[in-house]
Amino acid sequence: MRMAAMSNKQELYLSYLLKTIGFQSNDDIREYIKLLINHYVRRDYHLSGKPFWNYSDCISIVKQEVDIKRFKSINEKKLTNALTASDLSAFGFCPVSYVLNRSFEIEHPTNQNELELGTEFHGRLITAKRKYVRDTDNEDLSSVETYNKRILTVISSSTLIYAGHKEKKPFYNLQENFWGDPDYIFMDKTGTRFVVEEKFSYKHDPARLSEDEKSYDRYHQNDRDHEADKKRMDWKYKKVHFYENHILQIYSYIRNHPDGVRYGYLIYWYYDFDESGPYIHKYDVKDILPTDSYEQKYQEVKSGIEALSETKACRIEALAINHKKCVRCSVNKYCGHKSKRYNDLTFPYHRGFLRLYLADFPAELVSRS
Ligand code: SF4
Repeated sequence: MRMAAMSNKQELYLSYLLKTIGFQSNDDIREYIKLLINHYVRRDYHLSGKPFWNYSDCISIVKQEVDIKRFKSINEKKLTNALTASDLSAFGFCPVSYVLNRSFEIEHPTNQNELELGTEFHGRLITAKRKYVRDTDNEDLSSVETYNKRILTVISSSTLIYAGHKEKKPFYNLQENFWGDPDYIFMDKTGTRFVVEEKFSYKHDPARLSEDEKSYDRYHQNDRDHEADKKRMDWKYKKVHFYENHILQIYSYIRNHPDGVRYGYLIYWYYDFDESGPYIHKYDVKDILPTDSYEQKYQEVKSGIEALSETKACRIEALAINHKKCVRCSVNKYCGHKSKRYNDLTFPYHRGFLRLYLADFPAELVSRS
């Protein structure tokens, strides 16, 4: 189903909300709306079974941000000195995100459903047991898929010695004053320990049509089959981008685990739902061996965090804020910096950055009854 555009009224309302949280340039507003649509539009169904694109999440994320900031319902967090793998990952992703995570209780993370489902998936130990991965014929696999499948086989034939989401016993490295809690630690057949970190993302499975959609669209079934087939192949061969901050997180486990962890795997799982619940329709694996460049990045991020803790402030290049990151950032509802208004950052986060701005409510949305 081709994506229909957001209605003019929805777009006007969303622009108004973005101006209220500080967005100034029309180009930024247009770009951010486009990114919100790409990430948060959902396919939904009318009672008749006719499918439609639902934009309510794109709007409610920004509306909730306005409410949080308007009602100042944000609690501060107690600051601690220890460094965690999550700190490194957050700072590597964006220093503002690190500061927000350390300063406030994040009660309404963006992607909350995804985070909750990720926790549930973690609990099911799918990496260890290969559950929920649909069996595929080897002949049908691309070379990357064959490689990934081989790694999963290696993982599942290794001995599981720690599952973070079940045991919740973070390790501590005294010398680095570092806490880490990996998803899994395994021991391979040679007796070498390795770490596995997994990330889950919802992604509509392009190959799947719901029963409702099939029966609604039965007159165009051939076209639909052809289109679905093309999308399935595009998705199958699409190269996954592994984020630097996730790689850094795994490297920090390898580097700092006191029991000697030698290498790691980062796994991205992509899921969708069918009648029987969530299932995985694509995954990709990156193997991580310690290298000088990872060590350099680790030291760079660690020094950045230490400097910020000491000076309590740093400079931020407002115009360099990357909205592609902001739109998928879990703390974006607590952030004033994505408006590109601020060139400084304080530690802890100054509440002045959370201010709202006056914006004209669009006349087209005022009811005349
Ligand atoms: S919303 Fe953007 S600027 Fe703010 S913390 Fe997230 S990534 Fe950084």
